[in-house]
Amino acid sequence: MEKTTLHTQDYIALEKQYGANNYKPLDVVIERGEGIWVWDVEGNRYLDFLSAYSAVNQGHAHPRILNALVQQAQRITLTSRAFRNNQLPLFEKELCELTGYERMLPMNSGAEAVETALKLVRKWGYKVKGVPEGQAEIIVCSGNFQGRTITIISFSDEPQYRDGFGPFTAGFKTVPFGDADALERAITPNTVAFSVEPIQGEGGVIVPPDGYLKRVREICDRHNVLLFTDEIQSGLGRTGKLFAAHWEDVRADVITIGKALSGGFYPVSAVLADDHIMSVFKPGDHGSTFGGNPLGAAVAREALRVLVEENMIENAAVMGEYLMGRLRRIESPHVKEVRGRGLLIGVELHASAGGARRFCEALKDRGLLCKETHDNVIRFAPPLVITKEDIDWAMERIEPVLLMD
Ligand SMILES: *Cc1c(COP(=O)(O)O)cnc(C)c1O
Repeated sequence: MEKTTLHTQDYIALEKQYGANNYKPLDVVIERGEGIWVWDVEGNRYLDFLSAYSAVNQGHAHPRILNALVQQAQRITLTSRAFRNNQLPLFEKELCELTGYERMLPMNSGAEAVETALKLVRKWGYKVKGVPEGQAEIIVCSGNFQGRTITIISFSDEPQYRDGFGPFTAGFKTVPFGDADALERAITPNTVAFSVEPIQGEGGVIVPPDGYLKRVREICDRHNVLLFTDEIQSGLGRTGKLFAAHWEDVRADVITIGKALSGGFYPVSAVLADDHIMSVFKPGDHGSTFGGNPLGAAVAREALRVLVEENMIENAAVMGEYLMGRLRRIESPHVKEVRGRGLLIGVELHASAGGARRFCEALKDRGLLCKETHDNVIRFAPPLVITKEDIDWAMERIEPVLLMD
């Protein structure tokens, strides 16, 4: 390991001088992680209650995934899809078998998977549904977060995500999240898909009303509209089920996954769909130099096995219930609502609390890392390997912080 005499403030100064200023991180400089814990450059230990926005569901530096990465990196890392490699076919098979879909398409970042899904449903609309060329409409939800590309921010209703980035991509229509009647009213003969996060993560951990997704499924079926669920944050065990839509026994037509698909080691994302949809893609229609590369495929295969074999999904359900129960018992004047599913939990504060940021800063000073989403929500999303004892440790920090003035 490189010996260094730089301290936290030195690293922050370097970023201030050389980095683009598009983030406002907490001032903790992490150099190492293991399981639910991370260490900063001063040697302080923190419990990670964010999990890189649910990308490290399996915990930091999981030894099995690390081993898969090292083993594969020593063999071959990138072939491009000009040639075949011996990891992608197995990744395809294993992911499809685990999720119950007939086909998958591998990409890298979440935003790329969403872009891919949008292209897929549009093409399906033209080639299968028979929508007139150039007329395809996709319905999205208010408060959505699906990534940062120009097309994706074109249907964001967060002014800051759009400001200065136009002109935007046309063909999107917004309805309120959680309102199935509004969806049905918005559908036209040119509607190809409805895009929805089963639980809105960046939107503030918003859980829709019970029965919403079931009704959405039924409406989409009735109007021959594809249901596209973005499970990049809510999927792969985070809410205590493989997919958050499983809480309502809903099977989407198209799903995007990413983040925890690689256990945080490497950017791997994918789109899942059955053959009658995915088959609209022909050679040359879409692609990515790194998508489906053997290193990412080997890492994702092991990340999925670890998730299942180490019962992390079940643990998320049990520990999520325990954590949510403990949080709900705190009688703090600042707390408006505690909500979520499994280990995706939002604590919404009253406007009078002075913003979530100061609570996150106070928790950091006590050894627990989490991040506000929007101004008034603290998101708690620890790795799915967390134990009851760890949660008790966390609650010894969270409780006094939520009770501070
Ligand atoms: C994080 C996220 C994305 C974007 O993923 P990136 O890897 O950051 O591009 C898309 N959809 C949802 C629901 C997300 O939480």
